[in-house]
Amino acid sequence: MLIDTHCHLDAAEFGADRQAVIDRAGAQGVGAIVIPAVSRANFDAVRDLAHSFQGGAYALGIHPICVPQAQESDLAVLEGRIQAALDDPRFVAIGEIGLDFFLPQLKPPAMRDRQEVFYAAQLDLAERYGLPVLLHVRRSQDLLLKHLRPRAAIGGIAHAFNGSFQQAGQFIEQGFALGFGGAMTFSRALQIRRLAEQLPLEALVLETDAPDIPPAWLGGPGRPAARNEPAQVGKIAQALADIRGVSRADIVLATAGNARRVLPRLADHAMPAGARG
Ligand code: ZN
Repeated sequence: MLIDTHCHLDAAEFGADRQAVIDRAGAQGVGAIVIPAVSRANFDAVRDLAHSFQGGAYALGIHPICVPQAQESDLAVLEGRIQAALDDPRFVAIGEIGLDFFLPQLKPPAMRDRQEVFYAAQLDLAERYGLPVLLHVRRSQDLLLKHLRPRAAIGGIAHAFNGSFQQAGQFIEQGFALGFGGAMTFSRALQIRRLAEQLPLEALVLETDAPDIPPAWLGGPGRPAARNEPAQVGKIAQALADIRGVSRADIVLATAGNARRVLPRLADHAMPAGARG
């Protein structure tokens, strides 16, 4: 079974044809889709959407890109929603959280500090409730790791991973899997392709980050930006198989097992056996 471990299925880009997008993913053998929240404003939307189709799962958290608009009181709201969701098998993680030191509006020192406050507070929630996290990692690997090290019990997924082998090793040691998707399908993405080729298969999970990060065959330089969608995780699995020189079936089996290992609640929330390839 294919698992898209990171898909913003509630995004406005899917407003016109969301059910068709979900159906296409199912037809491609995608048996589970994890939908992360980005702010208090979409906590309800991701929960309701995850409950609207077989294989839907969700995470709750405040994305670093949403930190400038977020209130400190949103953290208390988040904790209340987490408590309310603990008995919900479709609730699988805290996310999307992290640090982004690439976007200009997030780079000023005060905003870096504010991101760090929200990140650390959400790690505390992960620790308190024994939940994994979905991490947004952008020019921020070392500071993310610094906050994780004293919190040994926290694992999860470092999504759209793009760092060094040393940093990858530190996330893996912490109990994380690394998410690979559309970025590795570009032949010029040498570092990401090296990571995808050489990291232990036990450390990799598949994702689309749809509607973002369309794979090479959907767009790329000089072509209009295309919308990514969860059905693409099937061809992304093939791309990873080609990079590693193994079969697609091996990739699908291993990455699904990895996703269930790092998101244990996803394992409980099992799809009907054999229902979807
Ligand atoms: Zn994301």
